[in-house]
Amino acid sequence: MKTIGLLGGMSWESTQVYYRLLNEQVRARLGGLHSAKIILHSVDFAEIEALQRREDWPAMAELLSTAAKGVASAGADFLLICTNTMHRVAPEIARAIDIPLLHIADATAAALRRGGITRVGLLGTRFTMEQAFFSDRLADFGIEVLVPEAPQREIVHRIIYEELCRGAINPGSRRAYLQVVEALASRGAEAVILGCTEIGLLLRPEDTDIPLYDTTEIHASQAIDYALGERQEMEP
Ligand code: GLU
Repeated sequence: MKTIGLLGGMSWESTQVYYRLLNEQVRARLGGLHSAKIILHSVDFAEIEALQRREDWPAMAELLSTAAKGVASAGADFLLICTNTMHRVAPEIARAIDIPLLHIADATAAALRRGGITRVGLLGTRFTMEQAFFSDRLADFGIEVLVPEAPQREIVHRIIYEELCRGAINPGSRRAYLQVVEALASRGAEAVILGCTEIGLLLRPEDTDIPLYDTTEIHASQAIDYALGERQEMEP
């Protein structure tokens, strides 16, 4: 079994989900007392969020590249960045290390293709919804991405930072998210990506008939395929 490197703490509310899913899946697949081999570097999210506000991507690339190098030299065989947003600096991080990076958008694209989805809605932070780094990666796989209209993007973004990253799960926010999901479906989305690693804490597949693709679950599951040698390549 390969050792999984994690860049976490963005926020730790979702990193604990990764930690649980990775261990649950190793137990489900290998049985007994087996558990995942993990090296985690967990950051102080307040420092990251301050840099995000200033859109200081070079500083974030530097900070996370240094963390990634530490995880690699501690013995990780490959790396996961446990947040969609910080994949904005995934190319810089990948260049800083000599172990493979399992990109969250590639894992998601593979899952969408397995599901036969070609037009998908995307929920995430405003960085993920409005910048190209996530959507363009899906477009490379022939998947068209729809994002919510501006006022709904604002609501989705605010709830992530003011509630989900602070451990607050509110039924009113779940209803607000469901309205956004329905609006995307009415514009032609066949499914919706939960493209922020905390959204799965609020919205579950049973909340709607529209198929939801949770990036945390997809990313963790592909990591286990790779760690257990069920997948040789990092590409989907
Ligand atoms: N975890 C979130 C994501 O997947 C948002 C927090 C962050 O900005 O990293 O995008």
